[in-house]
Amino acid sequence: METVNVNLLHVEKNPGDTNWLEGILLDGTPSGLSFGFNRNTQCRILTVQTVEKALTRLREGGVDVVLLESAGSDEEDLKDIEKLVSVAADIPIIVLSPDFHSEALSRLLGNGVQEYLVRGEVNGDRIGYAVRAALERQRFQSHNRKVMGEIGKNFNVLMDMSLDGVAVFQDGIIRAANPAFDRILGYGDGKTEGKLISFFCQPEFKGYFLSQIEHGVETPQVIAAKKKDDSGLFLEYMVRSCSFNEKPAFVIDIHDITERRKAEEALRHQAYWDFVTDLPNRYLFLERLNEAMDLARQTGGRIALFFIDLDRFKLINDTLGHAAGDELLKIVSRRLSHSVRRGDTVARLGGDEFTIILQDIQELEDLPGVAKKILEALTATVHIQQNELHVSASIGITLYPDDAQTAEKLIQRADVAMYKAKEKGRNAFCLYHDTMDAGGMERLDMQNSLYRGIDNEEFYLLYQPQIDVKSGQVVGLEALLRWKHPTRGTISPTEFIPLTEETGLIILLGQWVLKKACAQNKAWQIMGLPPIRVSVNLSAVQFMKHTLPFLIDKILKETGLDAKYLELEITEGLAMRDPTFTLATLREMTDIFKLRIALDDFGVAYSSLGYLKNFPLHSLKIDKSFITGIGRGTKDDAIVSAIIVLAQNMGLEVVAEGVETEEQMLFLRARDCTTCQGYLFAEPLTAQQVEVLLHEQERDSEAKVKKPLKTSK
Ligand code: C2E
Ligand code: MG
Ligand code: MG
Repeated sequence: METVNVNLLHVEKNPGDTNWLEGILLDGTPSGLSFGFNRNTQCRILTVQTVEKALTRLREGGVDVVLLESAGSDEEDLKDIEKLVSVAADIPIIVLSPDFHSEALSRLLGNGVQEYLVRGEVNGDRIGYAVRAALERQRFQSHNRKVMGEIGKNFNVLMDMSLDGVAVFQDGIIRAANPAFDRILGYGDGKTEGKLISFFCQPEFKGYFLSQIEHGVETPQVIAAKKKDDSGLFLEYMVRSCSFNEKPAFVIDIHDITERRKAEEALRHQAYWDFVTDLPNRYLFLERLNEAMDLARQTGGRIALFFIDLDRFKLINDTLGHAAGDELLKIVSRRLSHSVRRGDTVARLGGDEFTIILQDIQELEDLPGVAKKILEALTATVHIQQNELHVSASIGITLYPDDAQTAEKLIQRADVAMYKAKEKGRNAFCLYHDTMDAGGMERLDMQNSLYRGIDNEEFYLLYQPQIDVKSGQVVGLEALLRWKHPTRGTISPTEFIPLTEETGLIILLGQWVLKKACAQNKAWQIMGLPPIRVSVNLSAVQFMKHTLPFLIDKILKETGLDAKYLELEITEGLAMRDPTFTLATLREMTDIFKLRIALDDFGVAYSSLGYLKNFPLHSLKIDKSFITGIGRGTKDDAIVSAIIVLAQNMGLEVVAEGVETEEQMLFLRARDCTTCQGYLFAEPLTAQQVEVLLHEQERDSEAKVKKPLKTSK
């Protein structure tokens, strides 16, 4: 496609803003859009700081379009425009205003301005689009002038050729029209002759149209019109006087801009409304929040901000797919909108975060009632793709002016209160209180640093040996994740894994753990060390993703590790959450992909033995909370003994976790527990320490790892 060069004269009284325009016009120009700048449009920005300088620059020539920043007052703007038009009547002018004023808009558009843009609403595409539309219109106008000039000479030829609709009317009646005029309005050739000139106007605009055309229309105007079949369209038109059959007449030139209007509407809508739910998006929400705060300031009123986050939405999205997730968001948005008054704003900030602005709060006592009503509305069962889903949400509430003076702080604190509601056990609400800030901020801070941590490779794995009780040999290694935070030092997985699950980051992180553990294990084998299995903990979010078995298979292929050297640990609690799903997933993992499965933290959740019997497991890991108490004649003795017998009967390996003392070890050995893991033998080790350990074991296959190894925690 041919490249179009556009020289844009930017009249900017504030020099600091030049980069802003260059930034959004020249960089933010995605290709593939049918409007706006694309790679075929070369834009050169010429910046001047005053209108006087702009006039000098215009006189030099070579400018295609003027972008004039509004002076802030209508009068001044009109003066500026008058000056610009006096020097370069043919160059389109676009006004960029800080706010939207409908009066200013109509005055400016009627006085030489082609486009009126509102600063906060524009992006590169929007400006690009406006420039293109303005240039197109300018072409349209000069074409008209040409037609008018030569109308007397070669009227029919020109009329037939024109893509614009041209008609001549006298005394309000159409005397002649070109084929394009008839076609645009949906008539056959010659069928509009003899009609009243206002016949195509939508009824409510007829009067206005007639008053406009009475003395000609020098600059393009827009009117809502209708075709023969009554379908609507937008026409841009101009009217000039002429003579026809030696009598005074008018020529009207029309141009169908319906598509352009639709694109403009779509852009405007897209900038302010959420695509999935059709609720106000973040921008419109912020605008409305600021307006509501202004009003409250003037009237001494109060507003409440509800920050709503769906509980476990990510899980639904990951398990059922994005289409189901979107469907759920739509249902939630409808339920939220029905729970509040008409004047209140319900918005979607993104993801599963919604906000509600409640205006004019009279009684603070009412707020819990509103929150409960919202929670109740959300908990009604949802049916999506034959699944019965139960939704719940956590709500944080802040009040203006009580809790914060700025919109930003009000939102941030509502978010903090929302996290408190989540901590309460979800499906709950929480009103903000000063004392919350510290904890909430910490959490937000942690969330941000998690993202950075992944980028900066602050995560690493340690490996804790699992020892065969009879031989004392290392038979397995459990991979345990660590986070070396730049300022806080090493953070435990129990602290950050729940947050990664909430943010969905666990998918990325879990994938990294799997890959790293498999690659490391293969590396040990390549070094010639005896092959050993490595166990990787799976999070609930990972486990629910139906693509997990394929991912694991891919990782095994990539790293070249045999599946029998990888074991996956899922906790008993997770396995029992949805036993049917667990059974199907485990079958796939073991039957098809030949993976080993360990049931972790066994004993803390409630297992149904019926299910347990059917799960294709390889080992049971007794939770360390039971091991701590054994050998002292407590209830733990009986529980651990029973678990060992159960595992033996099911033909499973049984691993005792958290073995710290010789007494515990003796107790377990006496009951034929197969495997132990704990500080008595080794704390989690680095890969290098494991290498040393396995070398030693290989050198002396009789050696038993009895002494605690140096810690690396
Ligand atoms: P877990 O899977 O039950 O891991 C065993 C935990 O017990 C580890 O804690 C280990 O360091 C600790 N431990 C081992 N021996 C002893 C002992 O003798 N005494 C005591 N007091 N503790 C012992 P860690 O590494 O802090 O991990 C905690 C939990 O975090 C793990 O529990 C696991 O559920 C989770 N986790 C660790 N790494 C990952 C990971 O890569 N992905 C996922 N999803 N979860 C992980
Ligand atoms: Mg584990
Ligand atoms: Mg465990």
